[in-house]
Amino acid sequence: MEKITSLAKRRGFVYQSSEIYGGQNGAWDYGPLGVELKNRIAGAWWKEMTRLHDNIVGLDAAILMHPRTWEASGHVENFTDPLVDCKKCKSRFRADQIPQENLAAKKCPDCGGELTDTRKFNLMFKTHIGPAEDTASIIYLRPETAQGIYVNYKNIIQSNRMKIPFGIAQIGKAFRNEIVTKNFIFRTCEFEQMEMQYFVKPGTDEEWFAEWRKRRWAYYEKLGIKMDHLRWHQHGPDELAHYAKDAYDIEYLFPMGWRELEGVHNRTDYDLGRHTQFSGKDLQYIDQDNNNERYIPFIIETSAGLTRNLLMIFCDAYDEEQVAEKGNEDDWRTVLRFHPDLAPVTVAILPLMKKDGLAELAQNIRAELKEDYATDYDQSGAIGRRYRRQDEAGTPFCVTVDYQSKEDHTVTLRFRDSMEQVRVPKAELSARIRQEIKVYKRTK
Ligand code: ATP
Repeated sequence: MEKITSLAKRRGFVYQSSEIYGGQNGAWDYGPLGVELKNRIAGAWWKEMTRLHDNIVGLDAAILMHPRTWEASGHVENFTDPLVDCKKCKSRFRADQIPQENLAAKKCPDCGGELTDTRKFNLMFKTHIGPAEDTASIIYLRPETAQGIYVNYKNIIQSNRMKIPFGIAQIGKAFRNEIVTKNFIFRTCEFEQMEMQYFVKPGTDEEWFAEWRKRRWAYYEKLGIKMDHLRWHQHGPDELAHYAKDAYDIEYLFPMGWRELEGVHNRTDYDLGRHTQFSGKDLQYIDQDNNNERYIPFIIETSAGLTRNLLMIFCDAYDEEQVAEKGNEDDWRTVLRFHPDLAPVTVAILPLMKKDGLAELAQNIRAELKEDYATDYDQSGAIGRRYRRQDEAGTPFCVTVDYQSKEDHTVTLRFRDSMEQVRVPKAELSARIRQEIKVYKRTK
């Protein structure tokens, strides 16, 4: 993880928040390559969950919601972690994440000092809205994006004439006052979620639950993730959230071990039932194709962390490889083997030399490719070193412009994973890159 954190910072993927003030725990900033990668991951998910489904639509709800939302959802009462502190070294732990012997003996796992009693700690960030800081002005930063979907479900049925089964997808920020925020961006206080809520007829929920588990697994396969680094974990009765009938996590083998990446939950009619009760509004679905049958739909949720997906994709893509280029047998390279659809830069244009019109020619090629691809341009240093810089950024294609390019209008196209190079006519470059992206299969 140290190598990943340091590469992420060095290459401008992720920086610590407010670093010049010593950093802010649980918050991170996404630099030039990081924001591109994050946007692409969000784009791939959005395409998968909305564009490829005729019956799933998007939403972007506000972070600040009526505080009754969180009473109805159960978060005010139940969204807590058990917390213990060490009286000696002042370390703070989640009681469910330390060895149970330590908890029973009230012994700190770090220093052996005495632990406090376990107390419940609500993870929601509270603030005030308006000028008066009294109890009537309390408002929460949303701890999940899902509730914004539930409170809009009737609006969406009416404005878009949706028929069950249908889904609503949303990407957005969520906030949790996490007790322990280690392992880089894995668990943070401010993060982004990609959630889809699928509304189904009661009685068909188990079937849809199985179907969405299948689809979400296939999605990661399509992204070229190492499938032996993914596994399912079914929640036991003591792990199930207060709203869930059944829940499975997709776990990924991160450098610190197997950890949750995404959850697929059968949330039953809990949420819409509770919002009916708390808002006094009728949230039943009226099935016009079936004698106006009325019911509260069941909800199947797929809930993935966007920032946690970014960490997973970064870890999954990270590779160190010994390469023997130009007779240098001991040379190593660090390479990020991102899927070309996700790579922050798709193609880098590199003139062999700055002089003799090669830089101008390379700039012209870049100007042409810019419309279709995220490009980079680099003319400084030896060509081998420039390739390494692009490998480290995960750029799948490099185009090298040399003296031959001036004569026969061809360029070199270099592939990141194999380091192979082919000669391509300049006029065919864009189409060739498109084709290569389409047929891309990760081999290493
Ligand atoms: P955990 O058990 O790890 O706290 P959770 O079960 O509470 O997570 P969910 O409420 O199911 O998580 O959230 C759905 C997804 O949102 C998670 O699978 C994860 O990818 C992401 N997520 C949740 N909490 C955080 C966080 N603090 N930082 C980054 N991503 C998070």
